[in-house]
Amino acid sequence: MNIPKNRISPFDIDSAEAVSHVREYTNSLRKSGHEPKAYVMTFGCQQNEADSEKLAGLCSLMGYKIIDTAEEADLVLVNTCAVREHAEQRALSHIGELKFIKEKNPDMIIGVGGCMASRQNRAEKLKVSFPHVDFSFSTAQIHLVPSFIAARLAGGRRFFPAANLPLHGDNTPDTYYADFPEDLPVVRGSTSRAWVSIMYGCNNFCTYCIVPYVRGRERSRRPADIEAEVRRLVERGYREITLLGQNVNSYGRGLDENVDFPALLERLAKIDGEFRIRFTTSHPKDVSPDLIRVMAENEKIARQFHLPIQSGSDRILHAMNRKYTAQSYFEKIDALRAAMPDITLTTDIIVGFPGETEADFEDTLTALRRVRYDMIFSFIYSPREGTPAAKMIDSLTREEKTERFARLLEVQNAITLEKNKAEIGWIERVLTDDAPGEDGVMHGRNEGNKIVRLTGSAEPGQFVWARITDAEPYLLHGEIVPPPR
Ligand code: SF4
Repeated sequence: MNIPKNRISPFDIDSAEAVSHVREYTNSLRKSGHEPKAYVMTFGCQQNEADSEKLAGLCSLMGYKIIDTAEEADLVLVNTCAVREHAEQRALSHIGELKFIKEKNPDMIIGVGGCMASRQNRAEKLKVSFPHVDFSFSTAQIHLVPSFIAARLAGGRRFFPAANLPLHGDNTPDTYYADFPEDLPVVRGSTSRAWVSIMYGCNNFCTYCIVPYVRGRERSRRPADIEAEVRRLVERGYREITLLGQNVNSYGRGLDENVDFPALLERLAKIDGEFRIRFTTSHPKDVSPDLIRVMAENEKIARQFHLPIQSGSDRILHAMNRKYTAQSYFEKIDALRAAMPDITLTTDIIVGFPGETEADFEDTLTALRRVRYDMIFSFIYSPREGTPAAKMIDSLTREEKTERFARLLEVQNAITLEKNKAEIGWIERVLTDDAPGEDGVMHGRNEGNKIVRLTGSAEPGQFVWARITDAEPYLLHGEIVPPPR
């Protein structure tokens, strides 16, 4: 690679220059009869999946063919999650296994990014304990990955810049996160469904959550850029657009334009074409009457709302710094149901937060029975070092937490089945998957994002109409019918 020896620091090679250097390298491999390949391994949430699609886009731009296994890869990028201890351990275990693959292919480049790698002590651990890893990158450095690869291919040292990222909240330099580029290439994992990030970071500092420390403060993308991206996707045949952000309801703060999330939704719903819009995640404190009105008035916005309650106890909600009470949360649910009686509601619950008493837990069960969610995503509390909750006294044993978790699931599973059975006989619009399932049968997702197993002939990635014929706890069955008139 034609980079002078004194210029092999990633900070000295801008992204465009880096892409062209790596392309030279991948072209030379191809000329010698070797197809250069890259594998992007993803852990965690939809935001990470969206980031991985950008990483895959950059790899493709640099001349790598994207594959789905590390064994054959010349470049492996691992996009990690830090939300739970278990997620970090899984990522570290996979990163450890890459050592044996790299022993067979010493020219392999390995980069580790995402939320875990954005933490100072984790980046340090990668540097010290995983010598086969070439570099780490934070969630704000995705666009710099070509520079990291180019410098390493040119003989530069292993590089762990995330070690410079301050771990604690407000001293995170805004400049570090500013100007996330708009024009990164994307290789999307689906031809019918697309993630569109509308904002990055979070200002809320829930006491159990590491996200604000690793993804920084909220920054919203300009509405015109988001609209242009959604228009392009719809023109290319995408049928479902999911808007992503840690707290989409606070979209728009800090922008020069006077725009909020309902205004953005209204603008996107005006785009011509047959498609639907989803969004995640919402914070209950920021759900406004205007948002509910816009959802109810626009058919293109799916009647589905994921609204994390986390606990039904005001005492625990306060300790979590959630900034709402159970009652104010219920009022938002009531307003959503009043405007859209058929809306699908889901939530997140944390069981066994430090200090949670039996009475607090009973409040959570009461919340499940009152709201009657279609589905919940529940987790046993796992302390994240560096968060305020990790310093709270956690007197519950693992057995007590597990027992509460089982009771929670018992209550919810019965509700989920009842709610699914209530849909039997309904005729619903279903977006089919990109390919039939392993059983050869086409599945899809209804308006509420529930999986529907379809009988009858259906093209992949298209809207069809289906009559719901049966229901299981996590699956609906449907037969394809002609569209209603
Ligand atoms: S709203 Fe709370 S839970 Fe969600 S990302 Fe922000 S701090 Fe974490």
